[in-house]
Amino acid sequence: MSLGQDRARALELDAEDPLAGARELFWPGPEGQVYLDGNSLGMLPRRSGARLRRVVEREWAEGLVGSWEGWIDMPTSVGDRLGRELLGAAPGQVLVADSTTVNLYKLAAAALDARPGRGVVVSDRHNFPTDRYLLEGLARGRGLELRLVEFDEVEGPDPQRVAEVVDGDTALLSLSHVDYRSGALADMMAISEVAHRAGALTLWDLCHSVGAVPIELDRSAADLACGCTYKYLNAGPGSPAFLYVRGELQGQLRQPIWGWFAQLDQFAMGQGYSPRPGVGAFLSGSPNVIGLALVEEGTALLGELGIERIRAKSQALTSFLVELWERHLNPLGFGLASPRDPRRRGSHVTLRHPRAAEVCRRLAGTGVVADFRSPDRLRLGCAAPTTSYSELVVAVGRIAAAVSDRAGGGKAGEAAPGASQRQDGRP
Ligand SMILES: *Cc1c(COP(=O)(O)O)cnc(C)c1O
Repeated sequence: MSLGQDRARALELDAEDPLAGARELFWPGPEGQVYLDGNSLGMLPRRSGARLRRVVEREWAEGLVGSWEGWIDMPTSVGDRLGRELLGAAPGQVLVADSTTVNLYKLAAAALDARPGRGVVVSDRHNFPTDRYLLEGLARGRGLELRLVEFDEVEGPDPQRVAEVVDGDTALLSLSHVDYRSGALADMMAISEVAHRAGALTLWDLCHSVGAVPIELDRSAADLACGCTYKYLNAGPGSPAFLYVRGELQGQLRQPIWGWFAQLDQFAMGQGYSPRPGVGAFLSGSPNVIGLALVEEGTALLGELGIERIRAKSQALTSFLVELWERHLNPLGFGLASPRDPRRRGSHVTLRHPRAAEVCRRLAGTGVVADFRSPDRLRLGCAAPTTSYSELVVAVGRIAAAVSDRAGGGKAGEAAPGASQRQDGRP
């Protein structure tokens, strides 16, 4: 099938797409740009612009300090909403605060303190760097062994392998739900059960799954989880992250950053730290109110679009992209570095090519935004509310052109960066 035939098919798929209209709910971005990096920074929902003006110009500018009355419970109220719409978590277990890195630290430290006498922390050798670094720091500070496991680099962590490496000396198993490199979707339920049989606690990083994959934390047997809100949740750069602490565990866990926002009677300003009951004990300092408002809008928007519909389109998009890869890019030396089975994938597709870094730069010059992950991976994010099938055909055509230029022996490889792309023209 030629790229032209694929283009015709993409137009049909777009015409039948129940989420096609969702793109109108976002700021459009530069004319003609194909944005395949919503897994890194989601697009701006129009409603968030309006909410931002309200928070800043009315609540802050006019309400000033009096507005705290309405703001102060936002970490838990927005957390409850996020739990209900996207995490499968009953109220009282989720809060929105701090960054993913800080939340991972709080949760991991609390888990390790709750398993005294156990000497091992288990994670994935290719987990996201911040996850590995902070576990390394915690393990070193406590004299524990950090066991970084080599899982299949495409298929990710699997329950059998976890069963081999988690044992009675393991305090904590910390993994990503969706692998940031390959997009592999881990079986949270099966893996958590394996860890529980060994008596270990589980901590899941949901950065690449929240807003793209339906999550059932309460049903999954996960103990602890956290994730960011600026990727598929579209809450903006540096927006506050969330954390989940299973209700039954809240009384047994104590997080390490003791601050006044977790204090039982916060405004008594009294002596001695005594944390409030519930997930609020995981708060530390003043919440980022502007960021929280945008998390609320992003959550509400995805809730209205429906996570099941989002997942269905995301699987169809990534499957279409894998088909396009097979026909048009595999012959040009690109390998597939994501699982073939759409049920085992999150919402991005990763291709490997020795010149991936250059391809990614060239794509940017033609208005296709993807991202590069060292040493040879090109990541193509398919955020269902904002990505069309036709855009995937455009991207694949440009990827093919980006490697054909030089492979064809022409002069393009010697030209100034960007020159050959400009001939190709923006769409
Ligand atoms: C994006 C991402 C993070 C980011 O952490 P920050 O504290 O927001 O910088 C952490 N973990 C994973 C798996 C991610 O994909």
